[in-house]
Amino acid sequence: MKLSARTLNLEESATLAVSAKASRMKAEGIDVITFGAGEPEFHTPDHIKQAAIAALLEGATGYSKPASGLKFAKEAVCTKLARDAGLNYTPEQVIITPGGKMAVFQAIHAVIDPGDEVVIPVPYWVSYPEMVRLAGGVPVFVTGRRENDYKLTPDELAAVLTPRTRMVIMNSPCNPSGVTYNPDETRALANVLAERDLLVLSDEIYDQLLYHGQQALSFAAVSEPAFARTITVNAPSKTYAMTGWRLGYAAGPAEIIKAMDKLQSQTTSGACTFNQYALAEALAGDQTVVEEMRREFEARGNYMYPRLASMRGVWCPKPTGAFFCFPNVGATYANLGVSGSVEFADLLLERARVAVVPGLAFGMDDHIRLSFGATLAHIDEGLNRLEQFLAS
Ligand code: PLP
Repeated sequence: MKLSARTLNLEESATLAVSAKASRMKAEGIDVITFGAGEPEFHTPDHIKQAAIAALLEGATGYSKPASGLKFAKEAVCTKLARDAGLNYTPEQVIITPGGKMAVFQAIHAVIDPGDEVVIPVPYWVSYPEMVRLAGGVPVFVTGRRENDYKLTPDELAAVLTPRTRMVIMNSPCNPSGVTYNPDETRALANVLAERDLLVLSDEIYDQLLYHGQQALSFAAVSEPAFARTITVNAPSKTYAMTGWRLGYAAGPAEIIKAMDKLQSQTTSGACTFNQYALAEALAGDQTVVEEMRREFEARGNYMYPRLASMRGVWCPKPTGAFFCFPNVGATYANLGVSGSVEFADLLLERARVAVVPGLAFGMDDHIRLSFGATLAHIDEGLNRLEQFLAS
């Protein structure tokens, strides 16, 4: 069977591959502790579920009209972005997508031509490089110093910009590291980009999951020029425990949103209609659930991070957002007889029945990613197993 060069060259999502193997083992009755999946172990809050159920029963079962999203759902996005980030978007500057992933995909495909360079800070969320390559773009990787938890300084960012740079992808808080830029750091990076004709894709899907008093600033909120040049991407998936609903959104210059809409109308025809009622309820309704879940994540991270950081041969940036720890375990490879993070993760799964994601998927082969979306009991048992594994 001849397959297209595009799909043949595409990497399988490593995060999904690990959780698939762990699921297979679980189905065989093996007790696996899963730190792999990037989703909260919470249920979607009831008031959000009820909004979709009511819409469904009232007959909201046709196509989303328009495909770019129902007006009230876009208005809810505007309400959320004004409330949480101080951003003033109008519904014409907003698109509702089937998942945050699709918002990122469409934003890249709306503006990237073959040969255009896209700056991607490392470690990065798995899908950015592949999405850029699918659009014919050239990912340009850049890593901050370990002493700065891999965050980029203005000089490090400036050093990789060329006349071909069309986009910079920012993701703070970061998946996989949990590291977050503070407002001054964000302003400093925005200053570097101020005079340049390029776009920023700011993936803020973890914007509400901040810990230890960490402050953050939405990239578009830095200044008027930054606002005019930023595509803000978000989704209810993590904040409201809605990964399975496949809802996301983007806000940005109307011209870009229109181009994304064109792509959407020729591909998915938009987000599920009755789910958009749930999106509006999540974003504009009662927000107390967000703080409840955030606090729970903070407690889980507070348990996972110090334990990991104290393990022999392990260094870990402190997560101040999202729900991941991204320890460097490279110093243990020789002793374990593994050559990289994929072999490490495989051996850990086979031997200790703990599923993690190899750092290679995020551009750092010395690291692994552990999600603290799991319950405290799971985290405790999984870390015990990891500790024993490392001592073996
Ligand atoms: N962006 C980042 C940084 C993510 O971690 C994820 C999900 O893991 C997404 C986007 C996509 O989210 P969704 O599940 O809404 O497609």
